[in-house]
Amino acid sequence: MKSPHRLSRRGFCLCCVSAAAAGAWLTPRQANAEALGIVEGIKAEAAKSPIAIHRLRDNISVLEGSGGNVAVLNGPDGKVMVDAGIAVSRPQMEKALAALGPEPVTHLINTHWHFDHANGNGWLHELGPEIVAHQNTAKRLTTMQRVEDWAYDFEPLPAAALPKVLFADEHGLQLNGTTLNLRYFGPAHTDSDIGVSFVEPDILHTGDTFWNGVYPFIDYSTGGSIDGSIRAAETNLARVTEHTIIIPGHGRPVSNRAELQAFRDMLAGIRANVAALKKQKMSLEAIVAAKPTAAYDAIFGQFVIGPALFTKLVYEGV
Ligand SMILES: [Zn+2]
Repeated sequence: MKSPHRLSRRGFCLCCVSAAAAGAWLTPRQANAEALGIVEGIKAEAAKSPIAIHRLRDNISVLEGSGGNVAVLNGPDGKVMVDAGIAVSRPQMEKALAALGPEPVTHLINTHWHFDHANGNGWLHELGPEIVAHQNTAKRLTTMQRVEDWAYDFEPLPAAALPKVLFADEHGLQLNGTTLNLRYFGPAHTDSDIGVSFVEPDILHTGDTFWNGVYPFIDYSTGGSIDGSIRAAETNLARVTEHTIIIPGHGRPVSNRAELQAFRDMLAGIRANVAALKKQKMSLEAIVAAKPTAAYDAIFGQFVIGPALFTKLVYEGV
C-alpha cells in the first residue's frame, strides 16, 4: 500500500489517496510527511508526464499534465495562456505550445499564486509575455510562503518572473478577437483567486475555485476558507449557462454547469455535516471517524485530497 510517489496519470500521489480511502487518520507528524510527499510528488509527475491537448472552441485549448489545467487562446495577437504549470514540464509544454501553432506567447495570466499554476512563470517570462494577475498573487510570489497543510515553504519567484500587470477587482483584455474578463473572487481557495471568462466563445477558467469531481485543497495559510470556497462556487454558477465550457483548476479539464453544481453542493453538504458535529464539541479525530463526507466519497474522494484531509480542511473553517 505504501509506495511513496506512486502517481496517477493526473499527477498526484496515490499513496495519500489509498491512506485516505482506508479511513486512516494521520497524526500531525505523519500528515505533514504525507503532505510533503504531495508537493514533491506533483513536481516529479509533472517532470515526466506528457501534456494532453484538449481543443475547445474558437481556438481555445486546454493543456493537461503540468499541475493545474492551462488554457491557451491562440491567434494573430499571439498566445494567451491562463496559468503556467510547473517549470519542470518545460520540454513537454514547449512541444504542446508549438503544436498549437508558431505564434509567440504574448500574454500569461496567473489564476492565483500556487506553484502548480505559477511556477512555470520561471521560464515562460523569458519569452517576454505580459504577465497579469491579482495584486495578491504578486505579493505572495514576492516572498517565501508557508502552506501549513502541505507543510511546505515555497520560495519566491525571481523578480523577472513576477506578474507586472496587477489589478484589484476586475481587468479586461481584447486579444485575437476575443474579450477576456478577469475577475477577483475575494478570498476563496487562497486570497489571490481570479476567474477568466472568454466572453464570445463562452468559456470560463475558474482557477482552483473549482476542482472537477474531486475534493479540493483549501489554503488557509494564504487566505482560503471553506466559506470563501462555497461563495466562489456560487459566483461561478451565476456566471455560466448550460452552453458554457468550464475549465476547472484540477480534475477532468473540460467541464460544465452540472458538474460545477455538484461540486458546490458537495462543499455545502459537507460544510453542514462538519459544522453540526463541531457544534457538539466533537474533536477533529472523532469527526473524521464519523465520516461526514461519506455520501460524497465515491465520487470526490478518489484523488489527492482524501476524505480525512478534506474533513480537516472544512473543520478548520467552521
Ligand atoms: Zn491552488
